[in-house]
Amino acid sequence: MLHRLSLFFIVCLLLIQTQAIAKGAPSSAKAHKKVLLLMGTRFELVAVSENEQLANNAIDAGVNEIKRIEALISEWQPTSQTSAINRAAGSMPVSVDPELYNLISRSIKISRLTDGAFDISFAAAYKLWKFDGSMTRLPAPEDVAASVKHIGYQRIKLNPANYSVYLEDPEMKIGFGAIGKGYAANRARDVMRKMGIKAGVVNAAGDMTTWGKQPDGQPWYVGIADPAEKEKVFSWLMASETAIVTSGDYEKFAQIDGKRYGHIIDPRTGYPATGLKSVTIICPDAELADALATATYVLGPEDGLYLINQLKGVECLLITDKDEMLASDNLSLHFYQNRKSPEKNNKTAKAQP
Ligand code: ADP
Ligand code: MG
Repeated sequence: MLHRLSLFFIVCLLLIQTQAIAKGAPSSAKAHKKVLLLMGTRFELVAVSENEQLANNAIDAGVNEIKRIEALISEWQPTSQTSAINRAAGSMPVSVDPELYNLISRSIKISRLTDGAFDISFAAAYKLWKFDGSMTRLPAPEDVAASVKHIGYQRIKLNPANYSVYLEDPEMKIGFGAIGKGYAANRARDVMRKMGIKAGVVNAAGDMTTWGKQPDGQPWYVGIADPAEKEKVFSWLMASETAIVTSGDYEKFAQIDGKRYGHIIDPRTGYPATGLKSVTIICPDAELADALATATYVLGPEDGLYLINQLKGVECLLITDKDEMLASDNLSLHFYQNRKSPEKNNKTAKAQP
């Protein structure tokens, strides 16, 4: 299962036929697209429709849904319910919208599934680091060790009777950096679908969810490329009705004494997780994919691959810090090396040795 493809990072690129080039019945459906900054990230929403007005209305509704979710869950906006929970840490439970309560409840389930590798209470350790290039020295080891004591999903207490959330430790905080974009992508897709958009894509900086088919009847393809040469796609994942989500250290990281520290914290140590450069998860649910990408990154190549191989309907592609590529047992990759687009080459390969 080991591919010695050195120096490949994973970047998800979306292949979109913006014009209908149907091989069968001609169709006037087009892919309408909007790109904008939401949740501090570049979002791209695509709606396929013959009706331009409907497509644009649906995209706007999707955008509003993402903004609504951001206002509810952001740990950075002081007016959000998440901020209210964080302010009340160690003092009292806070009743919140069932929507936020359920997101927290699902997050705790993923913590249990991943043995705490994914933990929305990562913040105590995270705040010791700066992943914007400004950090020049490592935090004191005793501070890192002490921070871990304030991480622990087991101490997020939920009361379903009044939808209240209580953080038992006054130093504890929660944040949805590793699951919120996936949740928002799911919801934006649902809103667009409900308005009659039968096919489309929501792409949050490479975290993608797709439904239906391209205007020409082809499935959506997500390209896996070397960021150094973004035009050069080395393989394609067929992506209809699925989410493809990547976590990696190549965007937000600190470089200290020649070593790279990525923005995913290992809750067991308080230090940025090591062993992997990039994790791509493929499964129908963008929220789960988002959380599992982070968890797999923390678990590392061996335990991460083991976890994903246990989960039905979930696949992964990993790049280790030694530039080796690992794939889960049932991942089907479409190799189109040196080709411009998938329809010119129909080769399909399973990601195996
Ligand atoms: P990206 O935001 O680049 O898609 P991720 O989905 O992996 O990457 O999310 C990383 C973010 O999640 C961090 O910036 C931080 O806000 C948060 N985080 C870091 N470590 C953890 C962890 N162990 N569990 C849950 N969230 C985490
Ligand atoms: Mg994530």
